[in-house]
Amino acid sequence: MLAVYPGSFDPVTNGHLDIIRRGSRLFDRIVVAILRNPEKKPLFSLEERKRVLGLATAGIPNVSVDSFDGLLVDYARRKGARVIVRGLRALSDFEYEYQMALMNRRLDAEIETVFMMPSETYSYLSSRLVKEVVRLGGSVSGLVPLDVERRLGRRIGDGARSRRRGGGGRKDGKP
Ligand code: ADP
Repeated sequence: MLAVYPGSFDPVTNGHLDIIRRGSRLFDRIVVAILRNPEKKPLFSLEERKRVLGLATAGIPNVSVDSFDGLLVDYARRKGARVIVRGLRALSDFEYEYQMALMNRRLDAEIETVFMMPSETYSYLSSRLVKEVVRLGGSVSGLVPLDVERRLGRRIGDGARSRRRGGGGRKDGKP
């Protein structure tokens, strides 16, 4: 059975990878589907998120990475997937996920949403929080793949360090 695991993955965290690994043991194939949503103003471009996810999941044989826009159920149907995988971290995720799952069921009754819980190690982890911690100069080591940690450092870490030193965003010291 084929499942799609949709999300923004901006960037992928070890929590996402935990869900992908669990899903890959349950389903014949799992397609990680990055939502193309320019309104969310992502930190990483779609191409970069795709590349990063591809590298992070390279060791899992039945996983592929794709992107989509429009209705998720339309995309799942096009792919021939009957299952949507979503991760549930805490009670706070529940209400939104419950609404989405029931709306998707209304849109296509043939497609089931399956919720999976990550290891408790990652149950507080979100892409948003990871970006915030790096922006404020903290370490996210062990929470994201090394490649993501480096990219985050390059993208936002340098700016944060120079702000803490009292400088602006520019390396040449000009305002
Ligand atoms: P979205 O913008 O659709 O919420 P995300 O990339 O933030 O996209 O998350 C995609 C999916 O992964 C969602 O189902 C979300 O609940 C789940 N998820 C995010 N972080 C974690 C985590 N640390 N552990 C388990 N599931 C997670």
